[in-house]
Formats: sequence, structure tokens, C-alpha cells
Amino acid sequence: MEAYPAAENWDQFRQSLRARVTPVTWRTWLEGLSPHSIDGDVIRILAPSEFHLRWVNEKYRPLIEESVVSVFGAGITVEMEASDTPLFDSPTVDDDPEPEPLPSAAAVEPDDDQLVPKYSFENFVVGPSNRFAHAAALAIAEQPGGHYNPLFVYGPAGLGKTHLLQAIAQHCAELHPRLEICYLTSEEFFNGFIDGIRRKRMDEFKARYRGVDMLLLDDVQFLEGKEQILEEFFHTFNSLYEAGKQLVFSSDRPPKSLSSLEDRIRSRFEWGLTTDIQPPDVETRLAILRKNAAFAPVEVPEPVLDFMANRVVDNIRELEGALTRVTAYAALTHQPIDLEMAEDVLQDLGPAHTTVPISPGRVLAATAESFGVSIIDLEGPSRKQPLARARQVAMYLCRELTDLSLPKIGALFGGRDHTTVLHGVNNVARLMKEDQHLFDRVTALLQSLRKS
Ligand code: ADP
Ligand code: MG
Repeated sequence: MEAYPAAENWDQFRQSLRARVTPVTWRTWLEGLSPHSIDGDVIRILAPSEFHLRWVNEKYRPLIEESVVSVFGAGITVEMEASDTPLFDSPTVDDDPEPEPLPSAAAVEPDDDQLVPKYSFENFVVGPSNRFAHAAALAIAEQPGGHYNPLFVYGPAGLGKTHLLQAIAQHCAELHPRLEICYLTSEEFFNGFIDGIRRKRMDEFKARYRGVDMLLLDDVQFLEGKEQILEEFFHTFNSLYEAGKQLVFSSDRPPKSLSSLEDRIRSRFEWGLTTDIQPPDVETRLAILRKNAAFAPVEVPEPVLDFMANRVVDNIRELEGALTRVTAYAALTHQPIDLEMAEDVLQDLGPAHTTVPISPGRVLAATAESFGVSIIDLEGPSRKQPLARARQVAMYLCRELTDLSLPKIGALFGGRDHTTVLHGVNNVARLMKEDQHLFDRVTALLQSLRKS
């Protein structure tokens, strides 16, 4: 008989597991596991995502089994599944309410909870375009403060800068659990600063960043022209650098092209190692597609991967988006994937389509129109349907079509938390596999936004 494990047993299991790992591992990988059911001698556990599942299976399966046996008894076996593509029959049907917004903390508190598990070294495909940046990143994760300080990684959008920075943060946390590692976007750094001024708590702001062992600041081009914070940044930099702490920066341009920055800051960026990431060659694009296709529920034939790799040439995010759409379409229509279908679904991609940046305002306007809601509603608090779904679609489109970070997308939608955005995006990706109507609507929006 299938049942839920007793709450107290589950709690004991969590405590047992928690005692076996570092706090960072716990928070990053294990805390999010949830019980699905217990059925005779099989306990079923859900991981929040496919990537999460794979990682947990690879790294922590023995620990999980030990804890299961210690709490539920010998002879119990563990089955794990990702909750974003559940294969077990779900005992509860959850039409996925948007998670409760976190109490809007007075202070902006960036934390490593914004690290995306998928952004690991394991999932990073190395090729000629990024080999150097990858090697430097790995060396830094292994020996922070040792080799290259600061590391400055630059390149256009969608080529893996955020992925690499987060991989450094996560790998380093695994290897050096005692180190205090802080990853955040420059925008969050800036917001924290403004918040510190507003609340007259600059001392807190300063202490927060000057006390870390590794600071990874993503997209520093954002700081251009923000004089006040650059002064503070300069002091933070000096204090960490002098203390031998590791600094890592990313930007869409090399330091010398950050023209509005003062020389003293620009030159500091160049004190260590500066490396670019180039658009991937076709082999690397194929390798990335193959790696992602391995997670797809349906088989993606090689000629189709080849077709995608030749269609999308200069943005890995788009490359991934193309694969997602084709697999979603196949799941939806219960058809095997073939070249003809891929060509059809991906009409809007390719050499003909120009990569003019798409503004979030246009995404909101187009989504609002398609769903018959207003932009103000999209930004507003109501979670009624179909508005909530429209909002999630708009979040999904922002993720696909713009270069905005999750927190920044959250800000667009009335200051929602980045976890809410991630939830919305994943939810739309999942629903597109089940709901033909939604699939068509999202595809139409993608095509019209890309074309215009
Ligand atoms: P950037 O910060 O440079 O704009 P991201 O790090 O956000 O780019 O990468 C965009 C997407 O492409 C992410 O989903 C990321 O996982 C993926 N990606 C980028 N580079 C690689 C790579 N070398 N191997 C696998 N996936 C990659
Ligand atoms: Mg980025």
C-alpha cells in the first residue's frame, strides 16, 4: 500500500542525513528533497529538478541509503525521481500555486541560495572557445586566493559566464566548506548598497562583503557610471585583495572597454588574469546539445542535434531553448523527433533572424495581449488564473529572450523573489510538454517577439 512516510520518520531521516554532510551541501543539495511515498519496502524521494536528481544520485546516494536504513530499517530500497518530470503517479495533484513570496526582508540579502545547481563544472562543456576560462575557474575553485587574483571573465551574453562563476562558488564550497563564499550580481551588490544608505546601515553592508573569503561579482559592467558605489567597491576590493581573498568578476566587455570606470578600478580588474569566452564552435555546440539531450525524456536523433547546432551559433542559452522546444513539442504530440519536425518548430531561429536585443517591456506587452490581461496586472500581486499563468509565461519568455538575471526578472514583476521566477519558468517548461494550447501560445509569442 502506498502511503506517506510518517512525518517523524521523515524528520529523523533528514536529521540523520544532515549530520553526515557539510551545511553547504545540506542546503544546496539535500534540504530540498521531499518524500513522495512509501510502499512496502520502497521509499520514493523527490528531487526538485532533473539536474538536482542527477547530482544527488551521483554524489549522495550512498549517504541517503545509509540514512534511510538507519531510520526505516534494513531492506528498504530508495527510488528517486525529479519532481519536474514525475514518473511516479503523484498522490496529490498540485496545480502548482506560486510559492508564497518570502517576507520581503527589509535588507537585501543575497545568499548562496541563488546558486543554480545546474551551473556546475560537471555540466560545463569545455571546448576551444572556453578552455582557458574553464581551466582558470577550476584552479580558483580548488585553490582560492592562490593563482589568479582577481579572475576577470568577459564575453557576450549567453556564453556561460554566470555558469562558470557559479560553478566556482559551488565547487569551492564543496572542497572548502569552511570558506565564506559570496556570489552575487553587480545589481544586487548595488541594491544592497542603496539599501544600506537608506537604512543608515552602511556598516552592515561593508562588513558583509569585507568579511568573505571569496567574492564573485557577476556582470560588473552594470556598475559603470555609478560613482557612489564604485568608491565603496574600490575599498572592498582593496581590503579583500590585501587579505589574500579571492575575487572573481564577469562582464560583457574586457576591462579596457569599461570606459566610464576610473583608471584605478579598471586597472585593478587587470591585476590578475583576464580571459574571454568566445562563441562556441560547432563541435562544442553539439557536445552541449548532446549533454542536454541526455536528460530529455525522448530520444533526439543526431541529425536533429546537428541541425540545431548549425542554426544557433552564438548563444548557448538559445541553443538550449531550441532543444527544449523541440522535445516539448514531441512529448506533447507523442511523436518521435525528426528533422522535419525540428525545422518546423524552430522556424524562427537561424541566420535569418537578427539578434536585436528584445526589451522586457515588449515581452510584457506581447504576453499581456496574448492572454487578455494588462501589464499592470502582470506586475501586480493577484495570483488568480489565468493571470498567474500569463505571468509565468512572461517570466519564461524573459528568461528565453532577454539576458536578465532571475532577480532582475523578479524585479520586473513587482519585486518578486528570484525563486518565484525560477519556479514560474520551470513550470511553463513543464506544462509546455502537457498542454498543446500553452505550447502553441508560447511558441507564437517567441516567434513574434523574435521577428519584430
Ligand atoms: P552568460 O552569463 O554568459 O550570459 P550563462 O552562464 O547564463 O551565460 O549561460 C547561458 C546558458 O548556457 C546557461 O543555461 C548555461 O548553463 C549554458 N551554458 C553556457 N556555457 C555552457 C557550457 N560550456 N556547457 C554547457 N552549458 C553551457
Ligand atoms: Mg550572466
